[in-house]
Amino acid sequence: MDELLDLLQLDQQSLPIAFPKRFGLRVPKDFVNKMQKGDANDPLLRQVLPTVDETIVPNGYVLDPLSESHYNPIKGLLHKYESRVLLTVTGACAIHCRYCFRQHFDYGANLPSSQEKQAVIDYIICCPEVNEVILSGGDPLNLSNRRLFDWLDCLEAIENISTIRLHTRLPVVLPARIDEALLNRLANSRCQIVMVIHCNHANEIDANTQRYLEALKQVGVTLLNQTVLLVGINDNAETQVALSQRLFAAGVLPYYLHVLDKVAGAAHFDCSEAAAIELYWQLLAKLPGYLVPKLVRELPDKPYKTPINIYKVD
Ligand SMILES: *Cc1c(COP(=O)(O)O)cnc(C)c1O
Ligand code: SF4
Repeated sequence: MDELLDLLQLDQQSLPIAFPKRFGLRVPKDFVNKMQKGDANDPLLRQVLPTVDETIVPNGYVLDPLSESHYNPIKGLLHKYESRVLLTVTGACAIHCRYCFRQHFDYGANLPSSQEKQAVIDYIICCPEVNEVILSGGDPLNLSNRRLFDWLDCLEAIENISTIRLHTRLPVVLPARIDEALLNRLANSRCQIVMVIHCNHANEIDANTQRYLEALKQVGVTLLNQTVLLVGINDNAETQVALSQRLFAAGVLPYYLHVLDKVAGAAHFDCSEAAAIELYWQLLAKLPGYLVPKLVRELPDKPYKTPINIYKVD
């Protein structure tokens, strides 16, 4: 904490900082370097700085907002959507995002051991309707190349799998993770590789990050972005337009704009649905259709991301 505030030339006394016992401050230097010095409201800083707001938990904000445990037939595997399964391959992230809906998730209890990994593979083989595997976590790029490639080898060997998708924040948080060995491995996959980066603000993509994204694109990876709509960080049209344009310049298309999952500790980031809809109409007016992400909410029992009804009038 002291190091972060020193780097940013900020004074601890002037900030509503909290020191949570678990899911504490975690942020790599590469990400800190993209923040504005002296700005306590920097949109990147706000994503990682634990504040006293987190202790306010209104009704309806819960530990497991998506009731994911209901769709967890075997350890490490979520099968909620018909044609794809999501694997939590690691509990670790390089960054702790204060809005994270998995911040209370018990990874220890849900990471497959090597034996359980075989159970995951067998489950997918037995589900011919599944053609896509999503590697998630935590952050799947937090795995070493050896462990990640081992997953890729196993998944590519499954006939019904045609697409492997990685949901990761590392290209914006620790871009050097995209090393030559990883690029080579992805280039040589039998499957389509999709990478969904999680980027919430244009400032997260500097020239260095863009270079790594371009390298991914060059080896044939389909690059998409998902964003969480966060009050005080990206809840206005100007910021969203800049984000879409910045992504596109780096070869990434906007995919989803999520309204916040109601997780305990993140209520202060939650944008009202009416405000989200208002913002969305502004984006439709300002951006080409291919740069407008889908505005969605994840509901516990729906087998898809649910589109927000933008025609609703309250
Ligand atoms: C978001 C999610 C997916 C992927 O959904 P897409 O609409 O294909 O991006 C798959 N499984 C689970 C459990 C998810 O939460
Ligand atoms: S990188 Fe993703 S999973 Fe990790 S803390 Fe951030 S939002 Fe949560």
